[in-house]
Amino acid sequence: MTITLTGVTKQFGAFKAVDNVSLSAGERDFVVLLGPSGSGKSTLLRMIAGLEDVSSGTIEIGGRRVDQMEPVERNIAFVFQTYALYPHMTVRRNIAFPLIMQRARGWHHLPFIGSIFKRRIERMPEVRERVESVARSIGLDEMLERHPRTLSGGQRQRVAVGRALVRNPTIFLMDEPLSNLDAQLRVEMRAQITRLFGQLGKTFVYVTHDQVEAMTMATLVVVLDHGQVQQIGTPREIYEHPANEFVARFIGNPPMNIFVGRRRGDRIAIDDGGPVLALPEHVRRQTADGAVLHVGARPEDVLVTPGSSGAGTAATVSAIERLGPETLVGIVFGENWQRRYGETSVEDFARLGGYSTLKPGDRIEVRFNEDRLSFFSPETGQSYSAPATIQSATAEALP
Ligand code: ATP
Repeated sequence: MTITLTGVTKQFGAFKAVDNVSLSAGERDFVVLLGPSGSGKSTLLRMIAGLEDVSSGTIEIGGRRVDQMEPVERNIAFVFQTYALYPHMTVRRNIAFPLIMQRARGWHHLPFIGSIFKRRIERMPEVRERVESVARSIGLDEMLERHPRTLSGGQRQRVAVGRALVRNPTIFLMDEPLSNLDAQLRVEMRAQITRLFGQLGKTFVYVTHDQVEAMTMATLVVVLDHGQVQQIGTPREIYEHPANEFVARFIGNPPMNIFVGRRRGDRIAIDDGGPVLALPEHVRRQTADGAVLHVGARPEDVLVTPGSSGAGTAATVSAIERLGPETLVGIVFGENWQRRYGETSVEDFARLGGYSTLKPGDRIEVRFNEDRLSFFSPETGQSYSAPATIQSATAEALP
C-alpha cells in the first residue's frame, strides 16, 4: 500500500524530534529511514504505526488517513529490535499469537481456562496451516515446538518476523531488526528480508543507522538529521548525487572527500597544490568567479598512480589501509595541505582495487573522475546540483 506523510511533526515539549517530514512511498517500496542516533527515525516509524501521536501533519496509508486511528485499525506489522518474543511459549505459539488474540474473547485471558482455549485456537486447522506456511517461508518449520531460549539470535529474529507475517498485514515496519546480531548473521538476515520483500510485494518501512543496510535493501532511502529530511532518493541517487554535505559524509565508507577550492574562470583550483578541475556549466551559472566552493569526490573517483611521470597532480601517500579486495590510500597534496571538513580534521582517501604495495611517504600522482564530482556551497552545505528532496514514488529497482 502507498504511504504518504505530509508535514509530519512530533514535539516533545519545545523539542522537535521529527520536523515537518513529507514523503510518499509506492506500493512496493522498501523505504529505509536512515540517520544518526537521535535523528528521529524511530519516532517517525512509531507515528506511522500509531504507537506515538503526531503533533501536526497527516499520515495516509493506501489513500486512507490513519493518523487518528488506533494501531490495530491500521493493519500494520511491527518488528522490534529486541525481538519481544514470549519466552515461555513455543515458536509455534509465538507465531500464532496474533491470530490467537484476534479470535480470543475476554474470558479467554483468564488463567488456566484461558490457556485451554488458546491451545484450542492454536490447533484450529486454518491457524495451524497459516502458522506452518509462514514458518516454512522463513525456514522455521523444523523448529516450531522449540522455545526461544533454545534458538540463536538470527532464529529468534525470524520468529519475530514470522509473527509479523502471520496476520497478513498491509505494511511492514521494522525498527533496527538486525542490530543485535553479529556481522555475519546480519548479512544473512539482510538477504532474507530482501527476499521476503520480493516475495510479499508489500511496502516496508525499515529504520537503521547502518548505511550498508540502506544501500543494499532500500528502493527508497530517507536520510534524516535532527528530525529533518536531508534527502529522499534511491540508494544510487543519494550516493552519487548527495543533496548536501551531511549526506555526502554520512553515506559511504570512507565518506566522500570534501576539498576546498576556488573558482578561476571556467575551472576550479583545489587549495594548496591540489588539481585544477573543470567546473560544470550549472555550477558556473550559480557562482561568481573567485568564489570558494567545496568539491566532493568519492574515494573511487580519486585515481592514484605511483611515481611522478606528469600524469596527474603530484601528491604524497599519508596513510595506507589494506582491506583485502581494496586498499585505501590517504593523500596529501601541498605542504600546507589542510585536511579539513568543517572544524574536524579528516583524511582524504583514494580507493584502489586489490592489494597495493604503496606505503606512507611514497610520491604519487592524482587525477579525479571529473564528471563524477559534487559541488557544495560552503555557506549552506547544499549541493549546487541537489536533486529535489521530495521525490516521486518511483522505485529504481525492485528485487
Ligand atoms: P536511535 O538510532 O538512537 O534509536 P532515532 O533516530 O531512532 O535514534 P528517536 O528515538 O526517534 O531517534 O529520538 C529522536 C529524539 O527524540 C531524541 O533526541 C530523543 O531523545 C527524543 N525523544 C524520543 N522519545 C522521546 C520522549 N518520549 N520524550 C522526550 N524526548 C524523546
